[in-house]
Order: sequence, then structure tokens, then C-alpha cells
Amino acid sequence: MATLNGTCGLITGVANKRSIAWAIAKALARDGARLALTYQGERLLDNVQELAAELDRPLLLPCDVTSDIQIAEVFQTIEREFGGLDFMLHGTAFAPREELSRPFVETSREGFRVALDVSAYSLIAMSRGAAPLMAARGGGAIVTLTYLGSDRVFPNYNVMGVAKAALEASVRYLADSLGPQNIRVNAISAGPIKTLAASGISGFGGILQVYRDRAPLRRNTELEEVGETGRFLLGPESSGITGEVLMVDSGYHVMGL
Ligand code: NAD
Repeated sequence: MATLNGTCGLITGVANKRSIAWAIAKALARDGARLALTYQGERLLDNVQELAAELDRPLLLPCDVTSDIQIAEVFQTIEREFGGLDFMLHGTAFAPREELSRPFVETSREGFRVALDVSAYSLIAMSRGAAPLMAARGGGAIVTLTYLGSDRVFPNYNVMGVAKAALEASVRYLADSLGPQNIRVNAISAGPIKTLAASGISGFGGILQVYRDRAPLRRNTELEEVGETGRFLLGPESSGITGEVLMVDSGYHVMGL
């Protein structure tokens, strides 16, 4: 029997079939979970609808994570339709394109604010909405997606690296804040993968090549590998793990040179 039969989860961050959130959604659905997917705006609805046709009775909900009203509506609908929530994948990030190409010292106040709001604060806001629905089920699991640029400097990753540092610190504080309700909070730090968000980072192809050349496994990370790790961290097999940043990057992070 599939291990996630009878569970319900929320997935944010699906833009198209290359989205890491979609790879995780597919792995969870394969194991029997019922899913709600959010989409950022009408522009992405067609894409998400087309993908969701592969799922069993999906819920599709609009949610721009900068809107507290839309976040509240998502959890109201989930409570009504699912009666609770077992897990949530937070796969949302954004920085204005110009912040990902000019020298970091030129980062604007507004670019910083937007990047941190969409990419880090949204995890806190979404977790606050999810927590009561998870507590009603006796606990739950939350996973977000991060990158090694939180800790080390990568060309043009810039303010997104600062946002990921805030995101990873938020994972640890949320793990402590929600742990007493048996809610776990973890992050997956994925190696670079060619997605819509990645295409905004100037020189991204060069980063992919360095990983292929130097990572212990001498290859790039596959979407499916992150998908399976997401399923693990959102499912019962990882019941003892919280506050963790799990690297899924062909081992690149262990290298000195
Ligand atoms: P993606 O473009 O498929 O996903 C990014 C998602 O963020 C999109 O679905 C987009 O709609 C959503 N989003 C942006 N602004 C939003 C807003 N205001 N409200 C709601 N949603 C919003 O790209 P991806 O690479 O799959 O990114 C998913 C996550 O994985 C991001 O956090 C990214 O930083 C992280 N990540 C990506 C890589 C990589 O190399 N692709 C590596 C490590 C971590």
C-alpha cells in the first residue's frame, strides 16, 4: 500500500513541468497523497491546470504569496475541502531580474525587500496558515527549497543568496516554534537545475558546468532526485528530522576546490 494514502498536502511554486515543486508533487501523488496546488496568477493557470490533470481530484488555488488575503483564502479553502493538512511544500522565490546581473553592492532597497518578502518571509506566513490545519491532524511536515548561495558566493546569485540565508534561518526558528505541535520544518538545498527561476540568473549555464566538472558525482542534479527527497522529507519516513537543510547536489558542497 502506498505510504501517503489518505494524506493531503499543499504545493506552492509550480509554474511549469520543469518546476522543482512539480517534481515533488508528482512523487507525492505517486505515493497516494491528495494535493492542492497554488498558482501565482492567471498567467500561470493554464500551465498548472494542464499539469494538474495528471493528479487525482486536485485543488487549484490562486496565491500570490505577497498577499495575506490570498494566503488566508488558501487555508480557508483547504480546511473546507480537505478538513486538515498533512504536509506543505514551499517552492516560491523571486528577485527582480536586474538584481541578478549587476554587482551585489548595487542591490536596491526595493529589490532587497521584494526578494526577502517573496523568497523568505512567505515561508513564515504560509507556515502560520498551515499550522492549525496540521495540528488538527496530530502534526505535519513543511519543506522549502534553498540553494548553497545562502552560504557561499556564486556569480550573480546576489540578493537571492541573502534571501536563502534568511530562509534557512527561518527553517530553524520555525522548526523550534512548531515542533511542540509535532510539525517538522526542513529545507532541501538543490544543485542547480535549469528552470524558469534559474533562467533569471545571469551566467547560470556556467554554474551548471562547474558542478558537472567538480561535484563528486560529476553530473548535475536531476529533478526526480529532488522530487524523491521532497517525498521523503514530507512523508513519515523522516519523522525524526526537523530544522535540517538537506543537500541534494551531487555532493558539490563538500568540495574545497
Ligand atoms: P520555478 O520558476 O519553476 O519556480 C519558482 C516559483 O515561484 C514559480 O512557480 C513562481 O510562480 C513562484 N513565485 C514567484 N513569485 C511568486 C509570488 N509572488 N507568489 C507566488 N508564487 C511566486 O523555478 P524552480 O527552480 O523550480 O524554483 C523553485 C524553488 O527552488 C525556488 O525557491 C528556487 O530558489 C529553489 N531552487 C532552485 C534551484 C535551481 O537551480 N533551479 C536550485 C536550488 C533551489
